Amino acid sequence: MNKPVPSLKVHESDNVSIILTAGGVKAGVALDTGAVLLEDVPFGHKVALADIPKGGQVIRYGEVIGLAKMALPKGSWVNEHMIELPEPPDLESLVAPVEAPQPLPPLEGYTFEGYRNPDGSVGTRNVLAISISVQCVAGVVEHVVRRIREELLPHYPNVDDVVALTHSYGCGVAINATDAYIPIRTIKNIALNPNFGGEVMVVGLGCEKLRPEMIMNDDELTQSKMFMQEEELLGFGAITDRVMDQAREHLERLNKRQRETCPVSDLVVGMQCGGSDAFSGITANPMLGIASDLIVRAGGSVMFSEVTEVRDSVHLLPRRAANPGVVEDLVREMSWYDAYLAKGGADRAANTTPGNKMGGLSGIVEKSLGSVAKSGSSPIVDVIGPGERLRRKGLTFAATPAGDFVCGTLQLAAGMNLHIFTTGRGTPYNLPTTPTIKVATNSGLAARWFDLMDVDAGRIAAGEVSVEEAGWELFRLILDIASGRTQTAADKLGIKNDLVLFNPAPIT
Ligand code: CA
Repeated sequence: MNKPVPSLKVHESDNVSIILTAGGVKAGVALDTGAVLLEDVPFGHKVALADIPKGGQVIRYGEVIGLAKMALPKGSWVNEHMIELPEPPDLESLVAPVEAPQPLPPLEGYTFEGYRNPDGSVGTRNVLAISISVQCVAGVVEHVVRRIREELLPHYPNVDDVVALTHSYGCGVAINATDAYIPIRTIKNIALNPNFGGEVMVVGLGCEKLRPEMIMNDDELTQSKMFMQEEELLGFGAITDRVMDQAREHLERLNKRQRETCPVSDLVVGMQCGGSDAFSGITANPMLGIASDLIVRAGGSVMFSEVTEVRDSVHLLPRRAANPGVVEDLVREMSWYDAYLAKGGADRAANTTPGNKMGGLSGIVEKSLGSVAKSGSSPIVDVIGPGERLRRKGLTFAATPAGDFVCGTLQLAAGMNLHIFTTGRGTPYNLPTTPTIKVATNSGLAARWFDLMDVDAGRIAAGEVSVEEAGWELFRLILDIASGRTQTAADKLGIKNDLVLFNPAPIT
């Protein structure tokens, strides 16, 4: 008889365990958790550790991830075809804890090198960003950005890059619709991101619904705006020259920015996952949870997001609410999203992808329980809506869709200066303005995409490193990348995704 092969049971009450062997395990093989496989089971997938009757609970992370659609004998493969989703947690039943949770002990002595801004925020990069008020001008602005990069940037060596903050909003939209405030405040707040140094450029067309004054903010910012339709602008050359002239003024000031030593309390880290698999919740996301706790202990800010991935774990969060308002706000954001999905004839189950399922995730409940591990164990101090700016240091739930680009864009609007992204299936995702550290949940992906991934969290499943050690490694990498001492894999390759607005309001 061969030695039993290792598999992973997360919680003692679980009645499934996860296959850890690359390439899967064959029928007839015994697992270390006691089951003998009745059929071949792929890598990352679940095996029943006991006879589960039809209608019985399938338990992972100590939580019910589904109800068996059929009898699942011990040793059988448990996948998305065999389980039904339980009802989502009842939002009405969520109540604030009687006693607020204790903050984690402070952590001192860690710093990074950042660009301090006039408003007190700190950038991790020095970028000239050009906002637009309407998609009509995007092509022209992209053209000018290429010229600025080639003709002007070499004269301003302290400026890392120039980026057009393009979007599809601005006109042909119901600008006064109930939910139009979401795209509008997102466009406005992105321009205030700390990586742009308080320099705001807006290029508009002239006849659009989104007026630049709706984007321009306070007096402390150095701002310039122009409309392509201004009468004295004769032709394309005059228009592009005007943008170049304005850009030059902003570049002069940005070029004077210098990195200085800043406490970790100036970090604003956004956490996200995409292309998740069964390992997301046991390797990469818990590793982010440890790093998140370290940043919060050092006084910094961390956001976790993705409403449809929190919805099925939301009953686990009230005990971590720093005040009753956090629970009320969580319920408000979850209810809003339930209604938004229902209007489209969908629910939170629409979240999971074919890749998630191939990776061993049998539904949104299982995905969600793994996803919230990113938030670590700190108290949740605040909840913000989509496109809103962060208000407090500590751990905040920033309510956003789970779509990668949309979530990243909204976290930028919240003021994020560093992004961490976990993936099991693999994605080349990168934000154009902010370092994006990518963490592979399994070593197979990390090896295959050796030049696209920054961190291999699969070492945790292999027992080479503990979650705590891996979390500390990630924390140190965050400080190096925030300081510009190290570049992310995607930044080295120069690959970037678009910013994508969340617009739940009608277009006309
Ligand atoms: Ca995502």
